[in-house]
Amino acid sequence: MERFAGNFTQQEPIPEEGIAAAVAALRHGRLHRYNVVPGEEAEASLLEQEFAAFTGARYCLAVASGGYAMACALRAVGVVAGDRVLSNGFTLAPVPGAIASLGAEPVFVEVTEDLTIDLDDLAAKAASSGAKVLLLSHMRGHVCDMDRLMAICRRAGVQVVEDCAHTMGAEWRGTPSGRHGVMGCYSTQTYKHINSGEGGLIVSDDAAAMARAVLLSGSYMLYARHAAAPPPEAFEGLKWDTPNISGRMDNLRAAILRPQLPLLADRRARWRERYVAVEAGLEGTPGLRLIPRPDHEAYVGSSFQLLLPGWRPEAVQALLARAAARGVELKWFGAAEPVAFTSRYDSWRYAPAQRLPRTDAVLAGLIDMRLPLTFSVEDCAQIARILRAEVSAVWQAGTV
Ligand SMILES: *Cc1c(COP(=O)(O)O)cnc(C)c1O
Repeated sequence: MERFAGNFTQQEPIPEEGIAAAVAALRHGRLHRYNVVPGEEAEASLLEQEFAAFTGARYCLAVASGGYAMACALRAVGVVAGDRVLSNGFTLAPVPGAIASLGAEPVFVEVTEDLTIDLDDLAAKAASSGAKVLLLSHMRGHVCDMDRLMAICRRAGVQVVEDCAHTMGAEWRGTPSGRHGVMGCYSTQTYKHINSGEGGLIVSDDAAAMARAVLLSGSYMLYARHAAAPPPEAFEGLKWDTPNISGRMDNLRAAILRPQLPLLADRRARWRERYVAVEAGLEGTPGLRLIPRPDHEAYVGSSFQLLLPGWRPEAVQALLARAAARGVELKWFGAAEPVAFTSRYDSWRYAPAQRLPRTDAVLAGLIDMRLPLTFSVEDCAQIARILRAEVSAVWQAGTV
């Protein structure tokens, strides 16, 4: 019986150019983004310019984490304590956490079997909740019909902030992810698409919102040193009234990230090959449902999800154990208790209790797996063979 020997949490090393840039920053010691010598432009500011160009956004701000980016964007678009903020019922903990960090209340929206936000439930809750903002999580890279979503939100007077932690480098009908809403937020944490350990980015075309975000991030009165920020006039009416909630990115992280930006297109292509290898190997397995990927969704396949519709918890647990014994590490969103990075909406008990029956049914059979680029395409085919065999074994045993 074959056993997979790869490590599901091993990312690729930092490119040599990034290592050299990091060492140069360490040698001169000017790690704080506003610590520059005459004529020098900080790595953080250069990264912002380059990421703005990459996404086609007018403005960009680099911050300390993806979670910080979301909280900062919510504040920048006007969310205050006591507000209700719409978000996905299926996402990861930093998303409702960003809402709660402002003293605001998450209102969770159902997820469909395609793992995207349920647009009918969104329309209903946009009308009933009084929320003026949606923090839309493109969870695990699955993107809903963005034209319909934006039309619903426009009609309801709801501003959209996008969580693109899993869609950096992805596009929807040719538009880079993060460019539909008023602000797009990204993470550069180790498990995402570019890696600086921790880090975040915000993009926007909205001068007032971005000026607020820059001030919030802790710019003091040095905002003119941000080459990808709005012009100084945009800060005039805001600089006295916007609190400094320090969460800047430093030059060391920016130096590590800059050489990774030009690699994103190639990474997306390599991730796609790996994703497709797993998908092809699992096609037609009885008892298992694959997630459709629409043609116009240029996704980054950095993780893989599948559904085991109607499976009993004991059967899912048996599959997880059998796969683990053969070296394949799966995560399950249906577990009763949160495990490691995996939790669900009903475990975020700081939010008012909510019932999402359709989401419960999807999460009960939702399996999640990382696909780091250190896996070869052949590794991915092997993972699919093992999974196919073990799903079939549990399915045929009839205990499902
Ligand atoms: C990782 C992640 C974030 C942001 O995470 P940080 O660790 O704060 O950078 C946001 N949303 C989702 C869905 C994530 O997976």
